[in-house]
Parts: sequence; structure tokens; C-alpha cells
Amino acid sequence: MAQAAFSSLSLSKAQLTNLSSLGYHKMTPTQAQSLPAILQGKDVIAKAKTGSGKTAAFGLGLLNKINPRFFGVQALVLCPTRELADQVGKEIRRLARATSNIKLILLCGGKPFGPQVGSLEHGAHIVVGTPGRIQDHLRKSTLKLDGLTTLVLDEADRMLDMGFIDVMQEIFEQTPSSRQTLLFSATYPDTIQHISKRFQKKPLMVTVESDHQPNVIEQLFYEVKKHQRNNSLLALFEHYQPESTVVFCHTKKQCDEVAVWLREHQIEALAIHGDLDQRERDQVLVRFANNSCSVLVATDVAARGLDIKALQAVINYELPRDPEIYVHRIGRTGRAGEKGIALSLFTEFEHVRVKAIGDYQKKPSIIDVPTSLDRDPGFSLQPQMVTIQLDVGRKNKVRPGDILGALTGDAGLMGSQIGKIDIFDMSSYVAVERTALRQAMNYLAQGKVKGRSIRARKIR
Ligand code: AMP
Repeated sequence: MAQAAFSSLSLSKAQLTNLSSLGYHKMTPTQAQSLPAILQGKDVIAKAKTGSGKTAAFGLGLLNKINPRFFGVQALVLCPTRELADQVGKEIRRLARATSNIKLILLCGGKPFGPQVGSLEHGAHIVVGTPGRIQDHLRKSTLKLDGLTTLVLDEADRMLDMGFIDVMQEIFEQTPSSRQTLLFSATYPDTIQHISKRFQKKPLMVTVESDHQPNVIEQLFYEVKKHQRNNSLLALFEHYQPESTVVFCHTKKQCDEVAVWLREHQIEALAIHGDLDQRERDQVLVRFANNSCSVLVATDVAARGLDIKALQAVINYELPRDPEIYVHRIGRTGRAGEKGIALSLFTEFEHVRVKAIGDYQKKPSIIDVPTSLDRDPGFSLQPQMVTIQLDVGRKNKVRPGDILGALTGDAGLMGSQIGKIDIFDMSSYVAVERTALRQAMNYLAQGKVKGRSIRARKIR
């Protein structure tokens, strides 16, 4: 069952080809258990976390029912945060490539209202957004849900934690009762069950206990003295040299300190936590996703909902008290069949936590001998790419192709030297290979993008 192929489902040939071009060859356990029912139009309540392939499960389901000729909102996905909504939107767009002319819009808070109204007026088939902003649009009648066929609640537990219950209720009331309702939640508190009872019809329950196939994640624990924690962290980086890592810390202050420590030792790291403003947060995420920063130092809260693909390592700078949090943290590596490593530092006082984790996972925690603390003073972990920020964005009608065109055309870079391009309203970010940075900057200092002189700077 867990290894089922997508071809066993009633999906179009174009969609099967698309899935295989995305590298989705087999269903994940969550998909294998939920997709047959979802595609039959049944309500489903699934206990699934980030990394389980849940987005594709509901994405394929809702896309299957869209009628592209009817320009009304037919599917609505509610997400707790703007970041999750962004990721979900991206994943559904990838899946929608198999069908032409499907329009998806994001309606999230923290963004100007007017342009969203404009997009809605042009017609959209799918809306992905955060509850507060969806409620605003419903109240102003700029959004109508009477043609809705699928309603998805993603990370429903988190939306309840954030106090969205009344808002969700108000949204439900404006949808046809004939809709299919899909509920995804990492945990199953009573409140989730209430919501399901009230708003779902005979839902199929899907629980995949271990979505991240524990054997794909190598888990090792290292006992260290308190004062050795920082050096041990460096030793782990030097030993494993992971290309992308999240280091988990308990507090914001600790995140900042650890990131500074790593940078002082030539490991390009950035901290992410609740004290960053939206712009700083966007920049950190852009740089991590485009490979110009290889280490994120994060709190659990900040790491929730991050779309981190193919993370090679998760490091616990300190172990959490709750084994469930540990399992959630390490689930970010070794995704969808790729091998990952989870490394944890602990002191003698935290032995109980190591044991609790072993009990929870029903397998002993392997305590490894710390790698030597004699480090190579010349060691550095510098990413391959560097990010350049440009002061033009969506508002200037700049598209990724314009930036790519300028850099590969007049600036003379090769396409292979240019990485991810992210466009925001007022600025854009482009990753270029470190070796091509000077050439790119020399051009950008005098050159133009879309006929406009621009300002560019390397982000540090
Ligand atoms: P999610 O749990 O929706 O956040 O998905 C986790 C990651 O797995 C995403 O990066 C997806 O692109 C990827 N993914 C989803 N389904 C599959 C699949 N069947 N095979 C391989 N990767 C997948």
C-alpha cells in the first residue's frame, strides 16, 4: 500500500506525466491512504505533518474536480500562516501544470487588499489563504464561495491554536453544504474532532504513524559537557559537512548567539525567530532556499511551516523535553525517501530526554562517541551561491525572465551560474555562483533591467 504507484489512481495521463517530471514516482504513505477516498469525493481527516506529502494529497484531489471553464472559486485552502500558504500555492501550481488555464490566487494578510480584489475580479479557480484575510474578503463580498466544491483546512490544529475558530466557522457558513471537506492536522486534540464532527460528512480517518520512515533518518546523540556545546557543534559540521542544515535552539537569544558563533567560524549561518520583521524573515528564507546560506538556526515556532526541501541534516543544539517535538524536528530531514541525518547534543542532565525519545520511537537512541574536538582551523562551510538584492520587484512589472535575461545577455553570465530568482513587490533576489559575483555586480552597477537603471547589493 505504502509503495503504491500514482498510476493506480484515476488521474489523467497528463497529470501522471507531470508527477513523474516532479520526481514523484511513488505515493507517500499519507497519499496512498488518503488519495483514493479524496478522488472519490469523500471527506477525509488526516493526521499528517509537513513532509508527509499532504499538500499533493489534497492538491491532486481539488485539482481533479476543477472545471477550468467556470471562472468561480471552486477550491479554498485555509492555512495558518502566510508562509505555509505560499508553499501550498507553489505546490498546487506545480501540480496544476498538467491542466491548462487554472488560476490560483493567494489571499493572505500583511499584503495590500486592493490588488487581491483586482485578481479576484479577473476570476480564480483556487484560493489559498489565511483565515483572517479570507474573512475580510467575504465580508466585503469581494470573494464568493457559493460555487465551492472543495474546502481544505491545512494544519488545522495550528489554526485553532492561533484562535481562528470563529473565523473558520464564519467561512464554513458561506460555503455550500455539498462541498467536500478535507482536514489535515499534525495533532488530534478534542477541538479538531469537534470541528470534524460539525463540518465533515462521514470522514475517512487517515493516520500514518511514521511518515518519515525512521530508517531513512540516521539519528545520533552526542554527550557533551555544557561548555563544549559550541565546539562540538563545529565538530559536527566539520565531520558531516552537510549542504543544508537546520540547527534547533530553545530561545531567540540562543539562536542569535549560535548563528554568530557559527559565522565567526566560517560557517554561513542565519538565525530565524519571531523577533525578525517580515522583510528580514523573507530575506533569510530566500537565502536558505536559494543555497546562499547553508545553515538556519531556528526556534521550533519559527521553523513551523518552513518549506525546506531536501534538508540534509537537523541538529539539536539542545534536546526538547517533549519527544514528539524531537520527532517533528527531525522529520524535516530524510524527506520523501532521501536519506537524512539527525544529530543531537546533550549533557549528562539531559540523559532522561534521550531515553524518553528512545521510548517514544520504540527503539534505542544511539549514543555516538563525540567526533574529535581538535578542529581544523582552516575549515569553512561556505555555500556555493551568493544572493544579490535588486531594488525592483513585482510593482515594476519585473519577472524572473527579465533578470535572467539581463544577467545572461549583456552581463555575460552562463545560465548555469544563476540560481533561484525570487520576486517580491518592491525588490527581487537573485542567487549567483560565488565565482560569478563580481561579474554580475559589475554589470548591475551600470546596467539595466527592463530598461530601468537599478540598484543592486550583495546581501550579507
Ligand atoms: P508536504 O508534506 O506537502 O509539505 O510535502 C513534503 C515534500 O515532499 C514536498 O517538497 C513535496 O514536493 C514532496 N513530495 C510530495 N509527494 C511526493 C511523492 N509522492 N514523492 C516524492 N516527493 C513528494
